[in-house]
Amino acid sequence: MSWRKAAASTDPEMTLLREQILAGFPNEKCNLQAALRPYWCARDRLAIDEADDVIVVGARVVILKSICAAVLRDLIQMHKGAIKLRQRARMSVYWPKMGVDVAYTARSCKKCAKRLPSHPPEPLKPHKPLRVRLKNKMGKSILLFQIHNSDSTNLDSNFTTEKKT
Ligand SMILES: [Zn+2]
Repeated sequence: MSWRKAAASTDPEMTLLREQILAGFPNEKCNLQAALRPYWCARDRLAIDEADDVIVVGARVVILKSICAAVLRDLIQMHKGAIKLRQRARMSVYWPKMGVDVAYTARSCKKCAKRLPSHPPEPLKPHKPLRVRLKNKMGKSILLFQIHNSDSTNLDSNFTTEKKT
């Protein structure tokens, strides 16, 4: 099963979004169906990456709601504080209100909370972008992403059974 089919069968929002991108967005937000209004701000940058069969916002991959929590969980392990984590996330991934979610997650982490803006800035080093990639394996869609230099995380998301939002 392709990612497109897997996502389409279980994630109505992504299916709607894909159709809307192909059809074009209306001129007024009120003419957009409610489920897609969170994407209104990004409407000019939303596109379908046919090569990888994913929806993108610029260079960022639009992440399914069911995977956001896992992305946040991995991101937070960097313990860089809300601002840096948000910068890092914005290099690679997108979902509506992502900045709010990242900030909220960082606030709930003790190690991140120590990294307040008053904290002395750490020496500048080149940041490796968060690498996000979708792979099909045995009928499952797998989101791979890598932060730090360290481990790549293998998120096994079975879209055929996973329906949580
Ligand atoms: Zn943290």
